[in-house]
Amino acid sequence: MQEIYNAILDYVKTLEIIDTHEHLPGKEEYLDKNTDILKEYLIHYFSTDLLSSGLSRENYNFVVDASKPLIKRWEVVEKYWENARYTGYGRAIDLTVQELYGIERIDRSTIEKANELFLKGRSDSPYRRILKEKCKIRTCLADNMDLESDRRYFTPVYKLDTHIFFRNIDQVRQLSGEAGVAVTSFDDWLELAESMIERAISRGITVFKSGLAYERPIFYEKANYTQAEEAFNKIFKYFHLPDWASRELKIKKEFEDYMMHFVLHIINKHGLTVQFHTGIQEGNGNILGNSNPVQLSNLFLTYNNIKFDLFHISYPYYGEAIALCKMFPNVYLDMCWAHIISPHSSMEFLSEFIDTVAVNKVSAFGGDYCMVDPVYGHQLMARQNVSRVLAEKVSHGIFSVDRACRVAKMMFFDNPVEIFNLKG
Ligand SMILES: [Zn+2]
Repeated sequence: MQEIYNAILDYVKTLEIIDTHEHLPGKEEYLDKNTDILKEYLIHYFSTDLLSSGLSRENYNFVVDASKPLIKRWEVVEKYWENARYTGYGRAIDLTVQELYGIERIDRSTIEKANELFLKGRSDSPYRRILKEKCKIRTCLADNMDLESDRRYFTPVYKLDTHIFFRNIDQVRQLSGEAGVAVTSFDDWLELAESMIERAISRGITVFKSGLAYERPIFYEKANYTQAEEAFNKIFKYFHLPDWASRELKIKKEFEDYMMHFVLHIINKHGLTVQFHTGIQEGNGNILGNSNPVQLSNLFLTYNNIKFDLFHISYPYYGEAIALCKMFPNVYLDMCWAHIISPHSSMEFLSEFIDTVAVNKVSAFGGDYCMVDPVYGHQLMARQNVSRVLAEKVSHGIFSVDRACRVAKMMFFDNPVEIFNLKG
């Protein structure tokens, strides 16, 4: 078994891969300059494990304050760091510093050296060095609201949520300005959405994204025009509010439901792909049930020309996600973020997936990070996890080592090229 694993992993490590999802800034020069290793590595993910393990919010704020002495901040976080070190998030960080900085693990004796090397690396083209040379990533699908992202590294993804879900009244003015459409009625709002989406498509966008499982249940009923218009008209009661007043805006669900169907109707005509956040939400506290992928079934049934890409293996709902992917020709699964949420479940998922669904319907890796360094640790874990599962199938006589290597290349490269309409 170990020999088979080594043979497959040796091959998998040579593969150029597609990264199906990142939140990295669209250009290297946008990376935070006033940072250090603790501030950077605790932007998200591992910080969630630390807070969940008992680190107080107040102490967290101190730990990520780069103006305070590094070792004092380490002393505050050390106990929690040691508690959480063996989670997927923690392991990705240690694998990262091993490869990038030649340091076995981050701890009291290495934190200062690691920080020195991290800061040095910051000015040495981190995107080229890490994404291209170390990770062998052909392109990352970028969810960063920046359609001008550097094309050497990124393929921009169009975020649909600003058309569907209101956070703030200023959103209307901002989109209105971008689209050059004055919003004086619901019809104007629909025209604005349609013209922005069509314009993005004409500029080469092939992938869209919705992350609304953070905000509401992802069941979108068919609402009628009148209900949606009535809900939308509430925005006109807000325009007089001065800048310093709270301009937060919540309007009825019927508007959101209608808009989701409206934008999907446009994308369906073009036969493009929509990535949906499903499963666990990042951060400490949300309503997990809102993200269960079975709630999307009516959309799968209605928009047959859209390729629906379900993020994060819908963890922990991956049994449901596999069933949906088996049932629907237009549903695909995406392992982005999954290998670090739970390395164990990622392997269990992939083993069950191979036993259940055709192997062309899954993408094996997406970093899903806001910071560049740990993309390295994450993609290494992905290569190891996939190789382990494939080795297990070989040892059970399901297929040969050669075929396992071919399947790995599909999952890391050919499948995402096909699912996201990329030019290989
Ligand atoms: Zn994400």
